[in-house]
Amino acid sequence: MELGWANILRVLSPSTIGLRSPLASREGDSFLTAALDRLPAAAWSTDHDLRLTSFRGGALPKVYVDGGTFVGRPLHEMLGLGYITAMDAHHRARAGEPTEFELLWRGRLFNGYADPWPGRGGRMGARAVVLDVTDRRRAEEKLRHAVLHDPITGLPNRTLFLDRVRQAMARARRHCDHSFGILVLDLDRFKGVNDSLGHLAGDDFLAAVAGRLAPCVRPQDTLAHLGADQFAVLVDDLGEPDDLVRVADRFRAALSRPVTVRGQEVFTSATIGIAPASPAYTQGEALLRDAHAAMHRAKLQGPAAFQVFDDGMHARALARLRLETELRRAIERAEFRLHYQPIISLATGHLAAFEGLLRWEHPDRGLVMPDDFIPLAEETGLILPIGQWALQEGCRQMREWREGNGHAPLPTMSLNLSGRQLTECDLVSDVGRMLEAEGLEGHELDLEVTENVIMADTESTRGCLAGLRALDLGVSIDDFGTGHSSLSHLDRLPVDTLKIDRSFLRTHGGHPHKTEIVRTIVGLGHSLDLEVIAEGVETPSQLAELREMGCDHGQGYLFAPPVEAAAARAMLHTA
Ligand code: C2E
Ligand code: CA
Ligand code: CA
Repeated sequence: MELGWANILRVLSPSTIGLRSPLASREGDSFLTAALDRLPAAAWSTDHDLRLTSFRGGALPKVYVDGGTFVGRPLHEMLGLGYITAMDAHHRARAGEPTEFELLWRGRLFNGYADPWPGRGGRMGARAVVLDVTDRRRAEEKLRHAVLHDPITGLPNRTLFLDRVRQAMARARRHCDHSFGILVLDLDRFKGVNDSLGHLAGDDFLAAVAGRLAPCVRPQDTLAHLGADQFAVLVDDLGEPDDLVRVADRFRAALSRPVTVRGQEVFTSATIGIAPASPAYTQGEALLRDAHAAMHRAKLQGPAAFQVFDDGMHARALARLRLETELRRAIERAEFRLHYQPIISLATGHLAAFEGLLRWEHPDRGLVMPDDFIPLAEETGLILPIGQWALQEGCRQMREWREGNGHAPLPTMSLNLSGRQLTECDLVSDVGRMLEAEGLEGHELDLEVTENVIMADTESTRGCLAGLRALDLGVSIDDFGTGHSSLSHLDRLPVDTLKIDRSFLRTHGGHPHKTEIVRTIVGLGHSLDLEVIAEGVETPSQLAELREMGCDHGQGYLFAPPVEAAAARAMLHTA
């Protein structure tokens, strides 16, 4: 019973209206009586035996009931099937206790209020006012549905899902044998569908996927659409924890057949993260967060994988979060450094270039190596400011060396680029500005881009490389041999140098197979008119073999590890 309506009913109740024998009198002309006549409401009185003694229902269309014809007959005859709670309220009212009630009357829903009213012969009867709230209730339900459901799929949304998770948690606290868990599904190629078929078709696709998933859950479970291409399921009342994996299997099977969207067959799959609930969880959000962590973990295994959350994941997620925060701070606090590793000409033994390599001077952890922070920096986009800093620092260092070196020619400076720098910032004009600011010429700089980035060969990558070439910069393919090069691409690419990945040299000595690969790459590079650098040269025998193959340059611990700027400068002088 809604209190707001109860108050209105109280206002309208016959005693308030102030009619002495209100319901019998058709002459009552007070304002409130007129109001009663205009509302979809009715009022009546009964004697002690709950027989109708009067009825007024001006604006209640005759299709509901013509109450007047029931005067003198038992109230329940007029009320019909839905009378039980209403009759109970009249009994209470007759006994002196005003009572609110709900009445289902001729297919409509009414809110009612009954209170005591003197009947015939001095015995207490009752009277009541009822108001038709059917339309209001429907509108409310529609609104509630809209607030708690996703418009595209019609499924419960995140808010309703979390509410159901909270309810399940409460049940689990009350009954220790009640267990449940949740799954988060992330569609693997949704962006592709959106991009190729358009957003409206994307919506149809999501609705079709929802239709596929719905039959995989039982009525007591909740399938929800969290937004974008993510769905979640609350699997309630688990028999055993493995049930969650079985649900995941059902989902995968359901998505193995293509979904038809606007006449097109679309293949899809979902990556699934599973989080079994435990008493340690007090908030639905935490359980959902852990299912997400498991899902992200599963993504690393490729499409259509699933993963069950474990505590290690939580620790890793926390560590990542901490690292990200620290990385942001590291930029502001200028904690990055460049170390320099010489690249040696194998023909002359001379210093040909320095590769600038990032280091993070962490206030507590000491020197942190790039492999421990670059992947996260790439993921979060922090690589953009960090990479920008590295470029700037490399150029600044070149100018400083130049000034200290009597302006004699210097070895080239090689700097590493992330793929995101090529596509997400205006690299060409940035580099142009840096060259100008430090008084450097383009050919003094070489930028290293990994093989996969170059081979992705998007329009923006291609444009960017061409722009760098126009500035006379060198471009190298880094980690060559680890990615997926297509030979037909290779001879059209705007690059000057191949850097053979160090993994090919690691077991080089005594491993004829890999030696032959290195020989092949050197030959391939030369036939394409590219210079070839071997990375990771550690032993004299590797060096001898590389020389014999005609490899142009070498880089590795055999010559020198990456060193601080001061040590690199000393190498400049001895060179
Ligand atoms: P990379 O570009 O392949 O850099 C060469 C790596 O090989 C360096 O590791 C270097 O210390 C290591 N190395 C050199 N000689 C030898 C050797 O003889 N044996 C062995 N086993 N390793 C050798 P480092 O400095 O840890 O850098 C790791 C990676 O981090 C780099 O691989 C590069 O991909 C990335 N990186 C470093 N600086 C930057 C940067 O400024 N921007 C971007 N985007 N990435 C960077
Ligand atoms: Ca490199
Ligand atoms: Ca490399």
